[in-house]
Amino acid sequence: METRLLPAIPENIALAAETIKAGGLVAFPTETVYGLGANALDADAVARIFAAKERPTADPLIVHLSGLDQLSRVARSVPTTAQRLAETFWPGPLTLVLSKQPHVPALVTSGLDTVAVRVPDHAVALALLRAANLPIAAPSANRFGHVSPTTAQHVWHDLHGRIEIILDGGATAVGVESTVLDVSTSPPAILRPGGIPAEMLEAVIGPVAVLRRSLPLDQGLPSPGLLEKHYAPRAALIFFIGPTGREALMAHLAATRAAGRRAGVLAMDEDAPALARGGAVVYRLGADLNSVARHLYAGLRWLDAQGVDVILCRDFGTGGLGLAIRDRLTRAAARVVETT
Ligand code: AMP
Ligand code: MG
Repeated sequence: METRLLPAIPENIALAAETIKAGGLVAFPTETVYGLGANALDADAVARIFAAKERPTADPLIVHLSGLDQLSRVARSVPTTAQRLAETFWPGPLTLVLSKQPHVPALVTSGLDTVAVRVPDHAVALALLRAANLPIAAPSANRFGHVSPTTAQHVWHDLHGRIEIILDGGATAVGVESTVLDVSTSPPAILRPGGIPAEMLEAVIGPVAVLRRSLPLDQGLPSPGLLEKHYAPRAALIFFIGPTGREALMAHLAATRAAGRRAGVLAMDEDAPALARGGAVVYRLGADLNSVARHLYAGLRWLDAQGVDVILCRDFGTGGLGLAIRDRLTRAAARVVETT
């Protein structure tokens, strides 16, 4: 199949909407990462998402809507907590897990009786959803297990020849996936930390639980979509966590160089000069957590493209977006080094 990489101008968004309605696959930008979309109510179209990504069908998809007013098309009931969160954070990077309408295909939800839904905060995604006038199931537009795409070029690299259209709307702003929240438990539980930090949810609904699976050393139980190894680059990523993570990373860099191997480092601006002096190939993530999240996946892909032997990164804490960043780096890592 020939994949068309098209600028996200109105006529191409209209073409993409027709493609979705006809059962095709369209990759499109959201504020988090690029999504690979299909008509969420068409099981055959959804099956093509799993085939294109080589994604196991046990990993359920997020259904995207053009607005809160569309929620009843896929969700059977909406608890008050969910309603308040949706009113506060939609459009935005918060996914709510709700009881599903019977006509949502089992493939979308991996056979669960719940459906994950959100309204993306991106003009192109919203225009596509409105033009198609359908709920669109869309996981990240990467091959399964690869780093999620934050540009149309990343999508092309992973999926060209497998999907009809890639709408190019530039680099995404948030850079990590949405927060997935289960509101059926008390307190509500974060199943996956993401673009809306726990603190922001708590300011609206009070305490939320964070599934321990998102923390570094937890081996945990397999549950839908919360797979251990994910978001991984080709080169082995070593993730340094704990109070002396920075020093342990520097020591590892020196040892790697001494062994004649090339080390890439994902670094905040403040750490970059010392790392460059230490002989690392440095990818600068910026000066704050928003910037780290925005550039994290592009950095992993860029360092892979440099052909480094190993990629090193330190932890950035658990405040705000730090928790989502830690979660992704932990899953991407070949090894987590816990310092004391
Ligand atoms: P992706 O869109 O590739 O980031 O993956 C979507 C993720 O949303 C899955 O991997 C799950 O973690 C989560 N998810 C989707 N549907 C459900 C559901 N019904 N219950 C719990 N988590 C879900
Ligand atoms: Mg994904």
